[in-house]
Amino acid sequence: MRLATYRKGKAARLGIVWGDQVIDYNVGARLMSPKGKGAARAFADVDLRGFLSLGASAIRMAKKVEAWVGKQSAGKSRPSLKSWVFDLAKVKLLPPLNNPPKILCLARNYASHIREVSEVDPLPEDILVFMKPATAIIGPDDPVVIPPECRLLDHEVELALVVGKRGRNIPEEKAMGHLAGYTILNDISDREYRRMKNPPHHVNWFFMKAQDTFAPLGPFLVGKEEIQDPHTLRLRLWVNGELRQDSAREEMIFKVPAILSRISRFVTLEPGDIIGTGTPTGTSFGTQKYLKRGDVVECEIEGIGRLRNVIRVEEPLYRTR
Ligand code: MG
Repeated sequence: MRLATYRKGKAARLGIVWGDQVIDYNVGARLMSPKGKGAARAFADVDLRGFLSLGASAIRMAKKVEAWVGKQSAGKSRPSLKSWVFDLAKVKLLPPLNNPPKILCLARNYASHIREVSEVDPLPEDILVFMKPATAIIGPDDPVVIPPECRLLDHEVELALVVGKRGRNIPEEKAMGHLAGYTILNDISDREYRRMKNPPHHVNWFFMKAQDTFAPLGPFLVGKEEIQDPHTLRLRLWVNGELRQDSAREEMIFKVPAILSRISRFVTLEPGDIIGTGTPTGTSFGTQKYLKRGDVVECEIEGIGRLRNVIRVEEPLYRTR
């Protein structure tokens, strides 16, 4: 199952991607819910984080809605679906989640990228993790916004895990049971902050990775059942149509169950948490082709989709919204 968050009119809606259409889950779940308003609201009035928090019963509800729409659209009553089933091309896709409890990212999980950013290249003995705040998230076609002085803007296409079930100290053999599915994260980075001059060689991770708009996310949440082996998916990234990153099926160093298990030794994983799993070679740091105003960056992961964003330069202004 594929889930999207989209805007139709003014409201953000949770949608079930259905071929080239999107079904309004919020409407569908209200229609399908058992009588009794409380129960209906619990299932219907949710965003993706709320949906994930409801667990397997919400997924059953979404399947029920999808099956019902399938049946209706095959029959003669198709016009009744017009107000809650839309062409995907006609809605504005939002980030699948804009309020994750946490965004965690692995810094080094592809050998080709480690060689690209590091003079010494021993393979890491443990995962190296940093965090981004939710304010960094933008959706498909939204701009990455940088100040005029930013000169070393970089891109990193990554497979992002989305947690579906709460857990602490998760054993590896139970880890996949805590995963809801996958999406794409572009781990935007300002390399200016990679090597501080004083003190030398310190990395200012937060300034480098956590800025507003530095976490393009989407286009959908793809359920884990749709992906056979997440470790060998082909990740690609283009800048203005030029292929810059291509994992060419290079495998991740740390695998998904190990990542979930290891992180949960330190923090509780919660429904809606997002975990970037690292990027392959071809970043601007390696090519020295840094992103600039107007560049179009497209990330693609096979089986998941394509995420497109543009680089915009803006003077930093005082704002309260
Ligand atoms: Mg990264």
